[in-house]
Amino acid sequence: MIIWLTGLSGAGKSTLAERLREELVARGRSVEVLDGDEVRTHLSKGLGFSREDRDTNVRRIGYVARVVDRHGGIAITAAISPYREIRDEIRAQTPPGHFLEVHVRCSLEELLRRDVKGLYKKALAGEIPNFTGVSDPYEPPENPEVVVDTESETLDESVRRILTALKYPRFPGESEPAAQIDAGFPGKSATALPRLDVSAREIADAYMLATDALAPLTGFAGRDDHAAILETGRLASGAPFTIPVTLRLKTRPRAGRLALWRDGRPAAIVEVEDVYRTSKEREAEAVFGTQDPAHPGVALLLAAGEWCVAGPVTVLGKPPSAFPEYDLTPEEVREIRDRRGWRTMVGFQTRNPVHRAHEYLQKVALESVDGLLLHPLVGETKAGDIPADVRMRCYEALLEGYYPAGRVLLATNPAWMRYAGPKEAVFHAIVRRNYGCTHFIVGRDHAGVGSYYDTYAAQSVFDNYAPEELGITILRFENTFYCTACGGMASSRTCPHPPERHLTLSGTRVRELLASGQDLPEEFSRPEVAEVLREAYAEEASA
Ligand SMILES: [Zn+2]
Repeated sequence: MIIWLTGLSGAGKSTLAERLREELVARGRSVEVLDGDEVRTHLSKGLGFSREDRDTNVRRIGYVARVVDRHGGIAITAAISPYREIRDEIRAQTPPGHFLEVHVRCSLEELLRRDVKGLYKKALAGEIPNFTGVSDPYEPPENPEVVVDTESETLDESVRRILTALKYPRFPGESEPAAQIDAGFPGKSATALPRLDVSAREIADAYMLATDALAPLTGFAGRDDHAAILETGRLASGAPFTIPVTLRLKTRPRAGRLALWRDGRPAAIVEVEDVYRTSKEREAEAVFGTQDPAHPGVALLLAAGEWCVAGPVTVLGKPPSAFPEYDLTPEEVREIRDRRGWRTMVGFQTRNPVHRAHEYLQKVALESVDGLLLHPLVGETKAGDIPADVRMRCYEALLEGYYPAGRVLLATNPAWMRYAGPKEAVFHAIVRRNYGCTHFIVGRDHAGVGSYYDTYAAQSVFDNYAPEELGITILRFENTFYCTACGGMASSRTCPHPPERHLTLSGTRVRELLASGQDLPEEFSRPEVAEVLREAYAEEASA
């Protein structure tokens, strides 16, 4: 990551860089500050202040910053870097998302007032030629990621805004406990904020919001977005979005900032921008298509608080996980995709072990798509679903034995299940687009539960959206099975034989077989997967 501070001499770049360095080091990061003055005494000794020499100096800083970034560190540059063209050139040479341009702004009047080294007075008196902002141009960034105004805001405020823009901490390999990370938080620390103990679902939502997994939503939904999602299946901006990601509280909060706590420590901070009430019945009807309290998603909604809190979220660490090696942020998944040279990647959502029917779908897709993101949901599911750790062992066994290693990426999806059928199918597709998928597999009754949704509703819902606005191509699949007459996997689209030639097992039948220690047919499940499941059932039975 490169944090590129640009601004006039005396605007506060070095102070800001030093404070940022402390904050990031406190979060376990390796940080290099490339300060303009220091660089000029070492890396760029002998260079003057002509446009050409300035460009050379800034290019050298950019080069070193990229080296630091390439090795997983954070480079903070604190040089005036007056010319837009060179800054944009360095941005273009840096991997997407790794260049954070920060305009450190301060008026000339204020700089004159500060004028610690007396340079501005000398420059105005004509004693220093080529002085940026006085006798040499300064071109402010046109679209910086962050603008900090050192004249009107405190150092803490500036630092906090940069850390927020970093979506801190979405860096690879980071897993410090939240309490430690919190210790270095600028300004009012999270522990000093009003505490709100929340469930794993809110923490998962916060983490997904903060890592751009739910883009373009970056915070808990506001009232306009909430209303638009229910009415149109879109955000107020018109972007497709089908599930209101809300923070619901039982009592109306007063604070401007709230700390979300989980397992006895602060995990996220919400900047409260708005608090509003909505009709839960209407939300249930719009999202779940039913108000039946027996529906697991409706039940959670009805049990939740009345007040919806809207606002951006900062997370203080990765949520605790049983599978840290598979917990990849959208950015990390996209990096791996690019490193492997996949131009196309198909996402597969699952909350079940992968049996041969699903393996078949994935492999049909893999015949024409470069890579598969096997992206099991590991957030909360309803009682009776197979636990995530058992499923992960199944996936490992399956991938080991039956997939070319270079064509599959196994990563966890931190989301929790809503069981909203068609609305959740669209939601799942949007999440996978954000993880970098170009294609997404949707089978029959995707994210369904009971008999609340029509068999094909989760597929036909996509007719409401143009593929280019979704940004992902939906691959619609029929149920598949092993056909004894075809001698292979097939579906009603490819097999002419009667149902008695098709091997299908209901979930209930699979559980019965496993619970009684019997084998699953090889045509239904790979033996390695069946073995993991049988062991899990035996453990459960003996527990
Ligand atoms: Zn057949």
